Amino acid sequence: MENWDALEKNLRKKLPRMELRRNEPMSRHTSFRVGGPAALMAFPKTQEEAMDAIHTANQLGVRPFFLGNGSNLLVSDKGYDGYVIKTGGLERLEWKELPYSGRKLVAGSGVLLSRLANFAAEEGFTGLEWAAGIPGTVGGATVMNAGAYGGEMAQVLDKVSYMVESGDILMLDAKACEFSYRHSIFTRIPGRMVLNVSLLSLEREDPAKIRAKMADLSAQRKAKQPLEYPSAGSTFKRPPPMDGQPVYAAALVDQCGCKGLTVGGAQVSEKHAGFIVNKGGATCADILTLIEEVRKRVLDQTGIALEMEVKTLGV
Ligand SMILES: Cc1cc2nc3c(=O)[nH]c(=O)nc-3n(C[C@H](O)[C@H](O)[C@H](O)COP(=O)(O)OP(=O)(O)OC[C@H]3O[C@@H](n4cnc5c(N)ncnc54)[C@H](O)[C@@H]3O)c2cc1C
Repeated sequence: MENWDALEKNLRKKLPRMELRRNEPMSRHTSFRVGGPAALMAFPKTQEEAMDAIHTANQLGVRPFFLGNGSNLLVSDKGYDGYVIKTGGLERLEWKELPYSGRKLVAGSGVLLSRLANFAAEEGFTGLEWAAGIPGTVGGATVMNAGAYGGEMAQVLDKVSYMVESGDILMLDAKACEFSYRHSIFTRIPGRMVLNVSLLSLEREDPAKIRAKMADLSAQRKAKQPLEYPSAGSTFKRPPPMDGQPVYAAALVDQCGCKGLTVGGAQVSEKHAGFIVNKGGATCADILTLIEEVRKRVLDQTGIALEMEVKTLGV
């Protein structure tokens, strides 16, 4: 058990204007609407506040957990006896003249992907239409190398700046971020906070055409995904291809008779077997029990071990 009083006191002294909450229910901050309280949660609004929020914790030997929009996160019913930094306030989004790289679109980690995609559309730049329907932040999407409909973060990023435990800021070329399917250097080495990203030059396009593409992808999502219930998107990662053919987790889950399988308030979506949804009052324990049952059935029937895409906290 950490001494949260000491950290809270130090943070309040150093950052009197930064919002801090004790015992904050994580169910308010996750798209699953599940999760007990986090011992201490900080809401920095500027780079300087984020730096002090990290540095002050580091001085007490505390490593923060970085929370984006909580759309890929399952938090324990007991909550998280730790310090959470929510990045949503880091929402700068602007064109910037960068030394050596030229004029680039720069986005803070707390910017929602929908806002980024809509901003690019308004400015007449194509290349981010795929991102408009993903309910995450730029930071969470960079960490996860989020993607859809043939696009992914790795294709559009130029540089990524991040804070290390001391609060110092470092920068990586996107090529050095080890991006692969739902993976980056930040998933491999936790403890670093994605701060800002700059985007590669995007192609010009007629905004009406960009809007039409976004509307089409949004309609596809609505038709196929159970967006009417809280979830964290795809529960499992796509398994590696077999005999050169792609293997889809949702198809395996369906094939193994798991569609509609229910534990408490959690259900394998009847609309899309890749999603587990909160039908009302689901607990983290319900969701985890359901996940284990699905994994067991798929392993028994196909020999394939499904790996979770959704991250867990306090579990
Ligand atoms: C309805 C629905 C549809 C979805 N569709 C898609 C899809 O099509 N494609 C897809 O890839 N995903 C999809 N997702 C999953 C999710 O939206 C993405 O993974 C998203 O990128 C997560 O971003 P987030 O800000 O919510 O991250 P969070 O869930 O808050 O965090 C995810 C991980 O990233 C870390 N993290 C977050 N921000 C930072 C930061 N600034 N620095 C360091 N670490 C950080 C967290 O610690 C955690 O480990 C979907 C989810 C839902 C609910």
